[in-house]
Amino acid sequence: MEKLGKNHDRYHGETIAIRNVLHEIGTAARENSWTAETFHTFDDFKWFALRRPASHVPPPAPRIYISTGIHGDEPAGPLATLRLLRENQWPAGADITLLPCLNPTGFQQNTRENGSGIDLNRDYLHLQSAEIRAQVAWLEQQVGFDLCLCLHEDWEAHGFYLYELNLDSRPSLAEPMVTAVSQVCPIDPSETIEGRPAEQGIIRPSADPRTRAQWPEAFWLLTHKTRLSYTLEAPSDFPLNTRVDALVAGVNTALQKFCGTTAA
Ligand SMILES: [Zn+2]
Repeated sequence: MEKLGKNHDRYHGETIAIRNVLHEIGTAARENSWTAETFHTFDDFKWFALRRPASHVPPPAPRIYISTGIHGDEPAGPLATLRLLRENQWPAGADITLLPCLNPTGFQQNTRENGSGIDLNRDYLHLQSAEIRAQVAWLEQQVGFDLCLCLHEDWEAHGFYLYELNLDSRPSLAEPMVTAVSQVCPIDPSETIEGRPAEQGIIRPSADPRTRAQWPEAFWLLTHKTRLSYTLEAPSDFPLNTRVDALVAGVNTALQKFCGTTAA
């Protein structure tokens, strides 16, 4: 599979009608008995968290957090959540919280930043944007998560890659995710990605939040709510459907592996 060659200085690929996608996400969630909690509203947009409690326990059910749509030029994330909701193949024992779109105003104009020009995924330390302040206030009321997945795209990438932050050296989900994604999407073979050493599409950056002047969502989660986080990056210069396939394969593999090992 070859790159499309569309992205030169930024993302120039397919876009989505975010209001329609959010409507379809809401419908699919209701049909499968998810609950929805709105934590912010602006310009007729609702920022909401979906929740699917574990359908049968032995407790404690693993608590899993999935978020996406924080960059408005990365349509594969919200589309991946829509497909996952429609397929409805979640591990029965998992308690899942899903935030399908953190930056609807960015999607309206196909920009990485929100409608006010703020990169929301650099705003988790200084909290300058109303939507991230609202998300953090909502997150502070939640119990911690055993696993967090943040779904992204990278317009420059040569294939799929991911970041792992694994504070307790738990069994890594990185290699199984990359293996599964490689069936549907190329893996970025670069030895350096975004200035960090990478090996077969896996980056294991410093987990010390003090090393970053601006925090992405994963660093807030790691500091306050989790010990295990993955940021999945689909390559935006491949067809949109391929990027959705990649994110869906990564999420499904992480959930199956994590819930399988937790239940044992
Ligand atoms: Zn992103």
